Formats: sequence, C-alpha cells, structure tokens
Amino acid sequence: MTRRLLSGWGRAAPSAATVVRAAGRAHVEQVVESAAASGTRLLARGLGRSYGDAAQCAGGTVLDCTALDGIELDPASGIVRAGAGTSIASLLARCLPYGWCVDVMPGTAQVTVAGAVAADVHGKNHHVDGAFSRSLRGIELVGSDGTHRVGPGAAERPELYWATVGGMGLTGVVTEVTLQLRRVETSFVDVETERAGDLDACMSLLLAHATRHRHSVAWVDGLARGRAFGRSVVTGGDHASADALPQHRRRAPLAYAPHQLLGVPATPPVGLVRRSVVLPFNALWYAKAPRRREGEIQSLTEFFHPLDAVAGWNRLYGPAGFTQYQLVTPFSRPDVVGRALELLQRAGLLASLVVLKTFGSSDDAPLGFPTAGWTLAVDLPLGAPGLAAALDELDELVATAGGRVYLAKDGRLRPDLLETMYPRLGEWAAVRDAADPAGIFCSDLWRRIAPPARR
Ligand SMILES: Cc1cc2nc3c(=O)[nH]c(=O)nc-3n(C[C@H](O)[C@H](O)[C@H](O)COP(=O)(O)OP(=O)(O)OC[C@H]3O[C@@H](n4cnc5c(N)ncnc54)[C@H](O)[C@@H]3O)c2cc1C
Repeated sequence: MTRRLLSGWGRAAPSAATVVRAAGRAHVEQVVESAAASGTRLLARGLGRSYGDAAQCAGGTVLDCTALDGIELDPASGIVRAGAGTSIASLLARCLPYGWCVDVMPGTAQVTVAGAVAADVHGKNHHVDGAFSRSLRGIELVGSDGTHRVGPGAAERPELYWATVGGMGLTGVVTEVTLQLRRVETSFVDVETERAGDLDACMSLLLAHATRHRHSVAWVDGLARGRAFGRSVVTGGDHASADALPQHRRRAPLAYAPHQLLGVPATPPVGLVRRSVVLPFNALWYAKAPRRREGEIQSLTEFFHPLDAVAGWNRLYGPAGFTQYQLVTPFSRPDVVGRALELLQRAGLLASLVVLKTFGSSDDAPLGFPTAGWTLAVDLPLGAPGLAAALDELDELVATAGGRVYLAKDGRLRPDLLETMYPRLGEWAAVRDAADPAGIFCSDLWRRIAPPARR
C-alpha cells in the first residue's frame, strides 16, 4: 500500500491516492469490504492508458489490478478466461499460436482486458464487429454488495453487466473476463493503402474501405490548409490468409513478437511535439504514402498498434502533457468532422495526431461511446492559449449535432453536456445507484462530469 500521484496517459491533472496492488479475488473482496465499512472512495485501475482522469480517485484508494493475471484458453472453441489485469498483448502472445486473435483491439495492446470492458473499447472494425462487448461473454465483478458473475443472458443480471460495460469502473471491480476470440490463419494483416488529397476524398475512401475491409482507418494531416485541407492516408486491412504470406513468413504464420524500437526514458523539460516538428513530419508522411497499394503484408503490431513501438512516447509532450479529443458525429452530420478541424486551426492549436474512423450501429451499453457515424480523434498539447475555449466550442458543436465525446479520452468535459451527449445516463445511473447506494466506487472523472445531484 503506497500513497502515489497518478495521472492518465496524457500526464495531466495528477491526483494522490493510496494505491493497493490487488493480489487475487479474495483480496479484492477484502479491499472492497473495508472501503465500504470506512466510507473510503475506491476505484480499479489497469495500465493507465485512458488519457484523462478516468483511472484516478483523489484522496481515495486505487486498486491496481495488473497483477490479476492468468489465461485459460479452450483451443477448440476460442473461449478464453483471463484475469482482469491481463493485457491484450499477453492475450495475443498466449492465444495467437493456437490461431485465435482478440477480435476488437484498441490502438495499443497495452490495455488490460478489464480496462477494455470498462471503456467498451472499439477498434478499426467497429463498422463490422461492434465494440469489445460484442465478443465478451461474461465478467466476474466484485461490487459493494458482493461478488457476481454477470453477463448478457437473462439469468446473469444483464442490467448490472451492461452498466459495467462502458461504466468506467463505477460499478465495482472486474476480476475476470470471458471472451470469444476470432479464428485467424495468420498473425499478419493484408493491407490496402490509398492517399486522399483532401477531406472529402478521405471520407469517400474511408466509406469505400469500410465496405471492402474488416478494419479501416485514416491518418489525417490536421495542419494542412487550403486545397490540401484534410489530406490523408487511408488504410484498410483484413487478417491475412496463409497463402497470402510471402515465403519467408510461411514458416511462422502465427508469430507474435512485438518489439519496441525506441523508448523515451525521461520527460524532456519542454515539449518536443511542436509545429516545427509536426508540420514537416506530416508533409513527409503524406508524400511517402503510395497513391494506391494493395496486398502489403504487415505484422499485427504494425497495423493495429504502431505507437507501441516507442515506449513512453507520451513523455514527448513535456511536463504540460497532452489531451486527446475524440468525438463521434452521426452519419447525417459529416460536416462536424471538417468544422472541428477548422475550429482547431482557427484557434491556432496544434493537432499533432489526427485519426478518422467510422462506427457501425451502437452497442448495448448505456454509457458506451460508439454510435453510427464518424469518429475523429485529435491529440493536442496542453498549455496552449485558447485550448479550453476551443474545446468548449467543439463540445457544443458535437452535442448539438447529436454526437458525444469519449470519456476514456476525456479530461475536461463540462458536466452540463454529459446528459445531452449520453441520453441513457439516467438509466445507467439507476443501476449503479442500486448496486452501490453509498457511491463507494468513484473517480476524478466522475466527480468532474457527474450531474451535481449524483456526485
Ligand atoms: C495509444 C493509445 C491508443 C488507444 N486507442 C484506442 C482505440 O483505438 N479505441 C479505444 O476504444 N480506446 C483506445 N485507447 C484508450 C484505451 O483503450 C482505454 O482508455 C482503456 O480503458 C485503457 O485500459 P487500461 O487497462 O489502461 O485502463 P485504465 O486507463 O487504467 O482505466 C480505464 C478505466 O477502466 C477502469 N478499470 C480498469 N481496470 C478495471 C477493473 N479491474 N475493474 C473495473 N474497472 C476497471 C478504470 O476505473 C477506468 O475508469 C487508446 C489509448 C492509448 C494510450
């Protein structure tokens, strides 16, 4: 048990909590019971890859769940039971040799399976496979009223299950996750890449890729202006078949050996992510992309988790840190994508990394983020003048369009917009209130965005 300052991946707004390392389900039950008895606020934490304050609990206890490991795979069915702290990277390392792959993967493999449940994370395949919960079969949850095995079935307390999926740790501590994996022939991806000269071309190509490929995504140059506004590189990918592999890959078609090329061991005294670096980088990245290329074989890490190659890359933003603003806007309001980028440019902000994807239909979790439409994610260094006002304006634009921002990335949303963005908030809160009437489970995120009556 130690007192520590914790922050999210954006390294902003740290807060101090007592950190306890969970040592098994019985230990978790003991910690939850003692928090309930003493009225101490409590929150589970995974690998701290949420960008804002979702995994912080100032003045309370944070239960580090990363030691809740253990993987039990049924190689015949691809059903896997994993301890809550198992990372997606560990699951891949264990299950790919049997030809089973995690179906929905976020842009880093360094998240725990419980963190993936708590945010109901999405991948590049939401338009085909939905969010993480689509392949989830059940969870074990230690709540303030005991331990439950919950799932989507009628006899498995589905309301508590769906409040926990996407519920950002506010219903209890997930200790185990059961998942259906996807059968794959290889651990490689067959990739199609196309360059788009502007935002309209990017959005048309992305829609076309979404019909052809299971996975699709666009990297957008957030700094390009004029006729090049929104220029992008669009990629689509599918798990490669064994016969698509080049000869030298055929000896180990299911190999998974993610390696880190570089590391950023310490935080530089000033941020290194500046306009003078990002501008030429973007120009080069766009110029070196092929006009169109098909049949490129990439490793799973290259395609799904390219940022994992640089350990601690978040330190490059310096002591002030950074935020990621991720919005979704319905297909009926595609204009929000361009207007958001314009607004950031007008405010003189540095959109250092911009990614655009499509989402299919909503999932069942009341607090889930994805809803059919366009999702734009923008990394922004903190500390720039005008940032707060620009993001507030962006919130209004997104909310008015019927969209929302992603709570797993958020560090600054105003509480008055939460219910507009998440219209099923009341339904979710009723289940949470019934499961945890004393509000033991709490986070800095929740204290910041909850409607005042619910804090
Ligand atoms: C480079 C990068 C790329 C990303 N790409 C994507 C993406 O493509 N799609 C996407 O959806 N997300 C993406 N994310 C966000 C990330 O997937 C989520 O924030 C995820 O929740 C992080 O998991 P974690 O284990 O690090 O959890 P943490 O960040 O530690 O916690 C996140 C939330 O999960 C809760 N939680 C953690 N463990 C438990 C537990 N045992 N029981 C109950 N609640 C728990 C916490 O209380 C907190 O609310 C990305 C993040 C990074 C850094």
